Amino acid sequence: MHPDLPIAADVSLATLNTFRIDARARRYLRVTDARQLAAALADPELAALPRLVLGGGSNILFTGDFDGLVLHMALPGRALVGERDGRVLVRAGAGEHWHAFVEWTLAQGLGGLENLALIPGTVGAAPIQNVGAYGAETRDTLHAVTVFDTGDNSTRVLDAAACRFGYRDSVFKHAEGAGLIVLDVTFALPERWQPNLRYAELAQALDAAGIHAPTPRQVADAVIAIRRRKLPDPAEIGNAGSFFKNPVVPAEQCARLLAAFPDLVHHAQADGSEKLAAGWLIDQCGWKGRNLGPAGVYPKQALVLVNNGGAGGGDVVALARAIQADVAQRYGVALEPEPVFV
Ligand SMILES: Cc1cc2nc3c(=O)[nH]c(=O)nc-3n(C[C@H](O)[C@H](O)[C@H](O)COP(=O)(O)OP(=O)(O)OC[C@H]3O[C@@H](n4cnc5c(N)ncnc54)[C@H](O)[C@@H]3O)c2cc1C
Repeated sequence: MHPDLPIAADVSLATLNTFRIDARARRYLRVTDARQLAAALADPELAALPRLVLGGGSNILFTGDFDGLVLHMALPGRALVGERDGRVLVRAGAGEHWHAFVEWTLAQGLGGLENLALIPGTVGAAPIQNVGAYGAETRDTLHAVTVFDTGDNSTRVLDAAACRFGYRDSVFKHAEGAGLIVLDVTFALPERWQPNLRYAELAQALDAAGIHAPTPRQVADAVIAIRRRKLPDPAEIGNAGSFFKNPVVPAEQCARLLAAFPDLVHHAQADGSEKLAAGWLIDQCGWKGRNLGPAGVYPKQALVLVNNGGAGGGDVVALARAIQADVAQRYGVALEPEPVFV
């Protein structure tokens, strides 16, 4: 094996995933320099192993041990890198902690990422599922992504269009992008900032505080307060945030459901389809606060599945399947998990 690479064997991943599932990795490399990736792939033994690129482990469910090589992305760095068309370009290494990066942009006097404050995980993972919250998504401000292509060991830059972003989706989640490892991400933040208060709960919170012309800092603080109230802190209780995507259904299906369930929570989409609130569907099926073995549904938010202590990946999967079956039976709607199952 490559003598200069600090490869570890049989490593516990329990503290490296927010569900706190006690899975083990056959080989583990903490990647602090992009050159380590090419070196690892030049090693025949390592190159032959299945690979998992790991950030903060906040969107992953380990369903068993990982019999391969974990590349734990810890590439550091954040910097102002230029200006273009009234926007300031800021870049961060894939291993930077996302929320710390958002705080850093605010400290530079830059708005644009405040609605995405307090989301766990790393900068490098933000483009993977086009992380979104409170009416904003990564794609709104993403300028470019530097990637390492494991297919030919090359490095290149993708612009936002090449990332093919969708709702909790991007090229990285499809076959064409599966071999790409994000090295750094550049965001273009507006010099003339306007608050994004499309999300009613956020607008109401600021209004209730008597803030009518908020600063980016005030929007971030409101987002942080709402998130702290509604979501479990992974440091206290294992979870991966929203466990299911909000299902998007054709308008006709939504109309049929509304006839039977007038309280159905739905949001019209630009293309005419309707996005349903997965949390509402789960709550209506009676799952909020219920446990199945050591896994359960968070009492304050039905969309969040939790590890009440000692749960294995299989326990969480069993709970997820039971919820999916109930929602499908009652509403005829398929719930799709958001975390990546490994
Ligand atoms: C309490 C809580 C709240 C959350 N709230 C939100 C929310 O509001 N909105 C939202 O969108 N998500 C939310 N999430 C999910 C999660 O925080 C995000 O998906 C986050 O971007 C995952 O980052 P990570 O570094 O932990 O990625 P990981 O979980 O380590 O990895 C996730 C996926 O990205 C891939 N990946 C990671 N880094 C790289 C890289 N450098 N290059 C290529 N692939 C990579 C992994 O292989 C994996 O497929 C929440 C999670 C928790 C626990």
